[in-house]
Amino acid sequence: MFDTVLIANRGEIALRVVRTCRDMGIATVVVHSGADRDSAAVRAADHHVNIGPADPHRSYLYAPAVIEAARNTGAQAIHPGYGFLSEDPDFATICAENGIVFVGPPPEVMARLGDKSTARRIMADAGLPVLPGSREPVGTADEAAEVARVIGFPLIVKAVAGGGGRGMAVVPDAGALLPTFRATRATAQAAFGDNRVYLEQYLAGARHIEIQILADAHGNVVHLGERDCSVQRRHQKLVEESPAPRLPAELAERLAAHAVAGARAVGYRGAGTFEFLVRGEDAAFIEVNSRIQVEHPVTETVTGIDIVREQLLIAAGRPLDFGQDRVHRRGVSVECRINAEDPARDFAPCPGTLTAFEAPAGPFVRVDTHAFPGARARPEYDSLLAKIVTWGPDRDQALARMRRALRELRVEGPGVHTTAPLLAEVLDEPDFRAGRHDTTLLDRRTAP
Ligand code: ADP
Repeated sequence: MFDTVLIANRGEIALRVVRTCRDMGIATVVVHSGADRDSAAVRAADHHVNIGPADPHRSYLYAPAVIEAARNTGAQAIHPGYGFLSEDPDFATICAENGIVFVGPPPEVMARLGDKSTARRIMADAGLPVLPGSREPVGTADEAAEVARVIGFPLIVKAVAGGGGRGMAVVPDAGALLPTFRATRATAQAAFGDNRVYLEQYLAGARHIEIQILADAHGNVVHLGERDCSVQRRHQKLVEESPAPRLPAELAERLAAHAVAGARAVGYRGAGTFEFLVRGEDAAFIEVNSRIQVEHPVTETVTGIDIVREQLLIAAGRPLDFGQDRVHRRGVSVECRINAEDPARDFAPCPGTLTAFEAPAGPFVRVDTHAFPGARARPEYDSLLAKIVTWGPDRDQALARMRRALRELRVEGPGVHTTAPLLAEVLDEPDFRAGRHDTTLLDRRTAP
């Protein structure tokens, strides 16, 4: 096992990885920007290295500085968290060239999955259901019109390199096809430096269901069940839970089998997530996230498995020490993302200094946060302040504890709004309470 792991991230996930390393007796190095020198992760780590200014392109995304910090501190492995360099195959390659273990899948696997159009094709060939759509990226307006003729409307134009809900646009009818096709290509070029897009049928009123998998370097693949992440704003998740409410067991098993088959087909290694859209009995693969997910704690809570620990063991070459028959889920776990955003202003981030921050606690409440009184939510970075995770023997009790936790939470600061009040309302929505919601729940609520 590694003596020292470098964490190439910030915020709650950096702190969360530090904690598991400590549980495992591994020393930690947290790299940080000048803006994060007083962060909770920096304070918790054994060592910290300032790798550049607040601008992430000159710090958290700047591979040479991260590698140099690893070399100077003797770190044998780099945990990339989520976002930043976590799905960058070039970075994983540079790690390998420097004799450092990248905690994640092999670079070539990441490259194939990071291209969402290629991932779709690989998974379709592996027998996973996909929505009707283009098999290759679509380069011209004529090709787009041709594909649209086959799959019909509504459809969705998606950036091959897209992520985080960006680079995606729904096309309701033929008249909107060309402008949306062109606009999405331009957005994709600006956001990801890659203007390739593909087309897929738009499945209205679907649920987002994803399967957590673990694959080691010895050919063992297990799944840790599903998560329902259907409460979304602008295609980004806000509430997640495991298991998925009212999902027929047969369908859940089918999705899990698809994820395991897909992981095997692509030679996956590490922790990963297979995402699906589900409507009624229909399910379709949409993408793989080849990293730890923000919402992983709900799976940890119901399985008792520390996913970061498994990531580190797999990266160190250890075989999984349990099989599928030893994965058991107990009760229900729910996560709410507390973002420094204003739901009344289309979820615009509202950075600022926190004059007060009090996290909920008490029975069956876990809070993963980097916030504290005096901390500053910065415009350069993601707006996630805290994740509140609750557990209950059944969904009603997990949700009751979440209501209690949201009431206990206190976040204050000039100009700082959070998603907490809106999420408290979502918990009381009849459709959500009944577990009958889909990905359009929030858009319908907050539509002007
Ligand atoms: P990202 O990589 O940006 O997270 P995904 O492909 O995972 O993008 O999609 C994110 C969300 O967008 C989904 O959870 C769903 O709400 C919506 N979405 C994506 N593709 C479709 C589709 N074909 N039909 C309906 N909704 C979709």
